[in-house]
Amino acid sequence: MDSPDLLYLDNNATTQVDPAVLDEMLPFLREHYGNPSSGYRIGKQVAQALATARERVSGLLGCEPSEILFTSCGTESTDAAIHSALALDRDRQHIVTTRVEHSATLKTAEILARRGYEVTWIEVDSRGQVDLDELERAIRPDTALVSIMWANNETGVLFPTEDIAAIVRQKGTLFHTDAVQVIGKLPVRLSDGRVSFLSLSGHKLHCPKGVGALYVNKRTKFVPFLTGGGQESGRRAGTENVASIVGLGKACELAATHMDHEAIAVRALRDRFENGILESVSGTQVNGDREHRLPNTSSLAFDAIDSEAVLLLLDQRGLCCSSGSACTTGSLHASHVLKAMGFSDNRARSSLRFSFGRFNSEADVDRALEIVPEVIAKLRRS
Ligand SMILES: *Cc1c(COP(=O)(O)O)cnc(C)c1O
Repeated sequence: MDSPDLLYLDNNATTQVDPAVLDEMLPFLREHYGNPSSGYRIGKQVAQALATARERVSGLLGCEPSEILFTSCGTESTDAAIHSALALDRDRQHIVTTRVEHSATLKTAEILARRGYEVTWIEVDSRGQVDLDELERAIRPDTALVSIMWANNETGVLFPTEDIAAIVRQKGTLFHTDAVQVIGKLPVRLSDGRVSFLSLSGHKLHCPKGVGALYVNKRTKFVPFLTGGGQESGRRAGTENVASIVGLGKACELAATHMDHEAIAVRALRDRFENGILESVSGTQVNGDREHRLPNTSSLAFDAIDSEAVLLLLDQRGLCCSSGSACTTGSLHASHVLKAMGFSDNRARSSLRFSFGRFNSEADVDRALEIVPEVIAKLRRS
């Protein structure tokens, strides 16, 4: 599958597994196959590995190990937080979220609205930012949960999550943040307890797909989403995905060690790429707030092109990036994020997202700066 000249600029869709993560996992797929709930030695050894992983994840987040639940993905974490908040108090059946959430939140909120729950949707401006006064006004006495992502997966726009958390707390409501795109890219400290729930996903930080975590603040009551056995202190039933959880622990440890210099290096790659494209391709605009943005993401609108056609030509040259978000590719809908920012269908359909990561190099940027302008020029001529 791998081709030597693959140019992977789609790290917000998923990331390459770090070899150190895989090395840490393999013994748990080979010799250490015990069930962590078993009382004998090979079970207890595995339980110890889960405890280590929990410490590593909590270390990255600045919280206590007991505040981490392992889940099957970022989507499950988000669904579990929403489910818990709504199940907690029958008098609070209203949720507040934004128009630009990942489908994990967006679709869930739409389904809840169809089932009779009330949802207030916060709009964004042309930079992709929310208005904090509007948010404050949206929170009601019967609001069960405010769920707002930390960083947008399509544009990289960062919401002022600490300010949002303070507002929500002052209103006496629970707050969930989908931090899937932030964890491992920017430092997060949860020790002040203003966030009730936080979701993260392994495959966005160089761990395999199919594992995630949910932070639940120790003062927040939690109603389990998956019920059954007593795993995860009775908060998430089902025998643990041990190897992947061990991998997630390692991925978080690596992120904690490398984040500071990696953020600088990745930002430099992204900026050189973005500035290079803006200089060499006329009719190009950056989507979203350039200042409050993830260091790795560049969402660009190219006048007079169809992003699906660009993707095909880029793929032929080995370059992977995305139009809209990976989850909606294949459907004909223009990106809901770009449309919520007030852009026309046309601009949304002519936008591409490039997202850099740990395994990208200067040489990748050089090649991308060669390939992308050629492909755009070719399509504009045709
Ligand atoms: C990828 C992603 C998710 C979903 O995570 P999965 O582990 O794939 O379920 C949720 N939110 C954001 C912002 C994402 O980028």
